[in-house]
Amino acid sequence: MSESIERVKCLIIGSGPAGYTAAIYAARANMFPVLYQGEQPGGQLTTTNDVENFPGYPEGITGPEMMIELQKQAERFGTEVRDGWVTKVDFSGSVHKVWVNETKEIHCDTVIISTGASAMYLGLPSEQKYLQLGGGVSACAVCDGFFYRNQEVVIVGAGDSACEEAHYLSKLCKKVTMLVRRDEFRASQIMEARVRNTSNIEILFNTSTEEVLGDGQVVTGVRVKNNVTGKVHDIEATGFFVAIGHKPNTDLFKDFLELDPTGYIINVPGTSKTNIEGVFVSGDAADNVYRQAVTAAGTGCMAALDAERYLAAIDSTFEVNTATNY
Ligand code: NDP
Repeated sequence: MSESIERVKCLIIGSGPAGYTAAIYAARANMFPVLYQGEQPGGQLTTTNDVENFPGYPEGITGPEMMIELQKQAERFGTEVRDGWVTKVDFSGSVHKVWVNETKEIHCDTVIISTGASAMYLGLPSEQKYLQLGGGVSACAVCDGFFYRNQEVVIVGAGDSACEEAHYLSKLCKKVTMLVRRDEFRASQIMEARVRNTSNIEILFNTSTEEVLGDGQVVTGVRVKNNVTGKVHDIEATGFFVAIGHKPNTDLFKDFLELDPTGYIINVPGTSKTNIEGVFVSGDAADNVYRQAVTAAGTGCMAALDAERYLAAIDSTFEVNTATNY
């Protein structure tokens, strides 16, 4: 083996609640985990405002604060948290090979995938144009809402994310117009009620986005169509927020791991095991149903325990650390 190749017992890819929880358990079990944070250190929760439903925070906590605490907790037990993202893997042999930032090669006894999911966009050319220009299209109200203080914005989507983001924007912006493509929300009742009860949020049902309008540099409005009447009209707005769901970040693994038709990694039911021995998955990369921070954390724990037992089975010198692990 060349000197430049590093060997690690447990490599964790991703730094959301799943990755950090896996790291806490793996570190306490003497697996000396190395965790690569990826392109969005802290994961999706860093773009969430208040987290009110994670047990143990009766007053709520902001997403970024929670992720900092999780990182500290993982580091406290010896997790090595590193910048950088994994650009290639090879799970075809007995040693699991991972490349970081194209160059650094790591050979891993176990790999825990916690790469999460990314925001989806409508795919309209005008949306992509102003997204690339940084001219008024965003998939993160918490990150970008500040720039639209006292302005009028449009948000598309009808799930919990859209409701949460619309409500967040309503506190900053003069008016928020919410585009719901069907005649009902997908969001939970409490989130829907919050939006319906906010005076400066206007909800347009049966409405789809035709085009994001702009002056070539920045967004000036949104052309929408009523799906029932066919009527098209323009809404003046300086910001266009997209909150229509997420895509799992699993492209990297598609040559080796079994994925479902939408790209989520298929795990052995009731476990974090993938179709490759020694490779485990946790969090939203394998969860298109619950997608909660607390479920991600739970599956992160499962992945570390599964990895620990796998290591104990293949390496007689490695012992499951029952004294401190549970
Ligand atoms: P969802 O998949 O739940 O909702 C996506 C929404 O976007 C749907 O209303 C969908 O419409 C709409 N949509 C999709 N494509 C288009 C399109 N091309 N044009 C217009 N609208 C479109 O995603 P979320 O991100 O909202 O939520 C994901 C998960 O995370 C959920 O389980 C949710 O409960 C959870 N979550 C929980 C939060 C909390 O509890 N605090 C906060 C945020 C998310 P349609 O309904 O017609 O399919």
